[in-house]
Amino acid sequence: MIYIITGPSGVGKNTIINELSKYLDFYFSVSHTTRPRRENEIDGKDYYFISEVEFEDLINNDQMIEYEQYGDFYYGTSKDELSNEASIIILDLEVNGATKLLEENNKFKGIFIDIDDYELINRLKNRGHDASFIKKRMKLANLQREKKELYQYHVDNEDIKTSVKQILDIIYALEESW
Ligand code: 5GP
Repeated sequence: MIYIITGPSGVGKNTIINELSKYLDFYFSVSHTTRPRRENEIDGKDYYFISEVEFEDLINNDQMIEYEQYGDFYYGTSKDELSNEASIIILDLEVNGATKLLEENNKFKGIFIDIDDYELINRLKNRGHDASFIKKRMKLANLQREKKELYQYHVDNEDIKTSVKQILDIIYALEESW
């Protein structure tokens, strides 16, 4: 089954997925992006870091199942990633791309992660973002939350352990009933 983990930036999707990998055997769908690589990231593991021209080639050659422009960069999932034979595939997507996939095909199971505004502002601050950036991200977060009801599963990431347990429960239940 293919699980899409989504939610506003800063809610902790990355940390949750890293933590899940300690308890669950799954394939993490590696997205393509035109964003520059951060120091701690590995090409081919965190993302495929490619140029804009390369990204546009993938789109034109119909190799992307979804893509979005987020901030100043492209992010997208190639069809190849989803043809992986693992029985559980997990995607980490922003809300627009996630919602489109979810609406297109019921083979995708969507999990919407959120936290309260106070906590979200703190996390964005801790990432070193300034007030005007945080204001923009909070506005975006509120727009993204309008899609929340389309998601079958909601996780409030106040505490990482509880969130991971909740997601494991969701996945185990679905895998058993499949
Ligand atoms: P970051 O630059 O912080 O790694 O990611 C920014 C946002 O892009 C995150 O919300 C992440 O979930 C999203 N994202 C990562 N890969 C993809 C993708 O393939 N498609 C879409 N639509 N969003 C993605």
